[in-house]
Amino acid sequence: MSFIKQFVLVLWASPTTIIATAIGVLGLPFGTKFRRQGRTLEIYGGVVEWLLSKTPVDALAMTLGHVIWGQNSASLDFCREHELIHVRQYERWGPFFIPLYFYYSFLMWLTGKHPYYDNPFEREAFGECHPHYKHQKPSNE
Ligand SMILES: [Zn+2]
Repeated sequence: MSFIKQFVLVLWASPTTIIATAIGVLGLPFGTKFRRQGRTLEIYGGVVEWLLSKTPVDALAMTLGHVIWGQNSASLDFCREHELIHVRQYERWGPFFIPLYFYYSFLMWLTGKHPYYDNPFEREAFGECHPHYKHQKPSNE
């Protein structure tokens, strides 16, 4: 991928990336950690771990633009393949991704389907990391 194309994709997803990074930075005094992984910034532990544990599916990881939040280092390794598909979705939809995601969750709920498991964005990304495998949740390193 050319530098220009990569730059445009990062810029397109940046509204979400910036908010996710800012929350991570604010969480630094409370044990949040950062690492670069490929074209993403992984943020884990501390406040991010707490926030993820409060999601309806007790998410191990969550993609927000080019930022991937993880409960811990091991959960990021476990979920990376799945989350990188969400990164590509953000690169496609940019600031429209989150509204579209919630729109589809609502639509699934309205039609009697599961708002998370049946969401087309999740269906595309299902793979290694899936809450059904919660019993395999990796422990912190
Ligand atoms: Zn997902």
